[in-house]
Amino acid sequence: MERISDVLIIGGGIMGCSLAYNLAKRGASVTVLEKTTCGSEGSGRNSSGVRAQCRDPKELKLAMQSEEMWLTLSEELDYDVEYRRIGNLQLAFDQERMEEYRQRVSREQAAGLPVRMLDMDEIRRRLPNVNLDDGIDGCQFLGGTLCDSDGTADPLRATKAFHYAAVRHGAVVLPHVTVTGMTVENHKVTRVHTTAGDFSGGIVVNAAGAWGWEIGKMAGVDVPITPYLCQVCITQKLPPDTLKHYLCIHPYAFWNQTAHGNLLYTNAHAPLEQFPRHDVGYDVVEYLCRVTQKLFSPIGLGKLSLIRTYSGWNEVTPDGCAMIGFAGDPENFFVDAGYSGHGFCLGPASGVACADLILEGKTDLAVSELAFARFDKTR
Ligand SMILES: Cc1cc2nc3c(=O)[nH]c(=O)nc-3n(C[C@H](O)[C@H](O)[C@H](O)COP(=O)(O)OP(=O)(O)OC[C@H]3O[C@@H](n4cnc5c(N)ncnc54)[C@H](O)[C@@H]3O)c2cc1C
Repeated sequence: MERISDVLIIGGGIMGCSLAYNLAKRGASVTVLEKTTCGSEGSGRNSSGVRAQCRDPKELKLAMQSEEMWLTLSEELDYDVEYRRIGNLQLAFDQERMEEYRQRVSREQAAGLPVRMLDMDEIRRRLPNVNLDDGIDGCQFLGGTLCDSDGTADPLRATKAFHYAAVRHGAVVLPHVTVTGMTVENHKVTRVHTTAGDFSGGIVVNAAGAWGWEIGKMAGVDVPITPYLCQVCITQKLPPDTLKHYLCIHPYAFWNQTAHGNLLYTNAHAPLEQFPRHDVGYDVVEYLCRVTQKLFSPIGLGKLSLIRTYSGWNEVTPDGCAMIGFAGDPENFFVDAGYSGHGFCLGPASGVACADLILEGKTDLAVSELAFARFDKTR
């Protein structure tokens, strides 16, 4: 087993696997340590949105750069990630939010995102199977926004695609290896202790998602991540194009129809204290199904079965944006975590940017405002 590598990555989610692929492709020796299996956490459980609309201005450019990479990702990784540009439609149900959307749309258009305001007539034409007349919880829909370059892909397939491509380029990916501690000497992580013995790497990367705070603690670095739980529900298959767009109704939930026809919906996240276990929150499932049944009443969705439901941990930072870059101390500890519920979209670009920073110390991709340095107390 390879125990010394140029780069040792902790975590086999989309971030760890995308970075491993980009590093290995460029000739670095890479080992990924994964506590369970690649994609078993947020990266394989998410609601499949590849979306730049509604992103924090710090993150918007990187999301747009990543969306360009998604266009050719299946060919690049030689694995179908089921990427489809179906457009992302956001619905608003109060004047305050409509005004917020107008301001956001002009900011996003100025950045080059193909997004625009929609009136209810156009929304009705685009969502013929959705009941738009009764609103949600007594609030009426007033309008919305559509971003044509947003879409979806299959979460597990995409993460596995990076995993398999990384291995083809020589990366060593070790499942069922849990990192339990680190030795830090002379301002460097010299050993990473695991359930399978010790490993070391010239650079040690924290790509542990919602557990990034814990890995940070092992290195003596405060990595401010709060885990939040989200619930995903999947129905039986529906006829093609029952729902043409990725549909978001903030702050309630997200809906989209998968490439195979199932309707997949997810709630906005709930605090850890509310759902302390990593399992199904039935109260959330019940709420989501009630809202979904009402929204899709024109097609009698309530008669269909829910075939699967599971939860997944999000990883939220104090400003809701990712943390990318070296810690000040230990100097070989690199943070690639805290994607705050938007990481699936960012996976392709983030892998390239982090590989650039690790191998060359700079990148052309738009990560400067996402630097870990903004929170790093070791500096
Ligand atoms: C329900 C849900 C819906 C979402 N919807 C979207 C969406 O529509 N669009 C979008 O862009 N993003 C979405 N996200 C967010 C997105 O999934 C994450 O931001 C992204 O997957 C983070 O990737 P990651 O590799 O950093 O983390 P993870 O996928 O969590 O990977 C981290 C890995 O580290 C491993 N690990 C942890 N601790 C250790 C240890 N001690 N030793 C070894 N390994 C360890 C874990 O097992 C895990 O596999 C959603 C997330 C959830 C949960």
